[in-house]
Amino acid sequence: MNLQKAEFVTSIADLGRLPTDGLPQIVFSGKSNVGKSSVINRVLNRKNFARVGESPGKTTHINFFRIDQRAYFVDLPGYGYAKVSKAEKERWGKLMEQYFAVPERIDLGILIVDARHKPTANDVTMSEYFQNAGRPFLVVANKLDKLKKSELEPNMAQIRSTLALSEDTRLIPFSAEKGTGRDALVKAIMDVCDERKKETEG
Ligand code: GDP
Repeated sequence: MNLQKAEFVTSIADLGRLPTDGLPQIVFSGKSNVGKSSVINRVLNRKNFARVGESPGKTTHINFFRIDQRAYFVDLPGYGYAKVSKAEKERWGKLMEQYFAVPERIDLGILIVDARHKPTANDVTMSEYFQNAGRPFLVVANKLDKLKKSELEPNMAQIRSTLALSEDTRLIPFSAEKGTGRDALVKAIMDVCDERKKETEG
């Protein structure tokens, strides 16, 4: 799969309009400003593909990017932005409920959290959504470059316990800024896509 060949497909607020061509879906989620767009850009080695620093107006849209006609990157709306109205928060909750109601469409769930901090209540909720889906799932701890070396181990342990990650759930220390962890994340994505390809061919 050529990660250079990425194209924006659509942005939807209504699950009735999900792409349905059966390509594997790699699903990215994280609170607003955690660096979700930056992580996606880093994976694709692009600078301004998924937007960075976007004003958090569109909190109820799911963005779809098609990668080399082989997979979708599904960019779930960021959450936890303080200035969002109650009505909008409710729309976000509904959309997530609907999205996760069909867990089979998730081929790999990727939850992005901030490596510096204890995960938020919303992070915990998303972690539960992914783990309850029973689909392949991993966590990316972004902004690693802002951590002191001595903080790495305790922070990772805190993320693991707060999100109640099972022992076999991967937690990848990551820096979208520096590229740390990119190889591990790309490999996880490629492995899932290869597996799906084998399934559909076999
Ligand atoms: P999103 O709202 O989750 O999509 O977050 P963005 O990708 O827009 O990033 C939010 C801010 O965090 C921007 O100013 C980024 O430059 C910054 N950022 C993202 N990833 C990293 C990282 O790994 N390290 C550092 N230091 N800053 C980052």
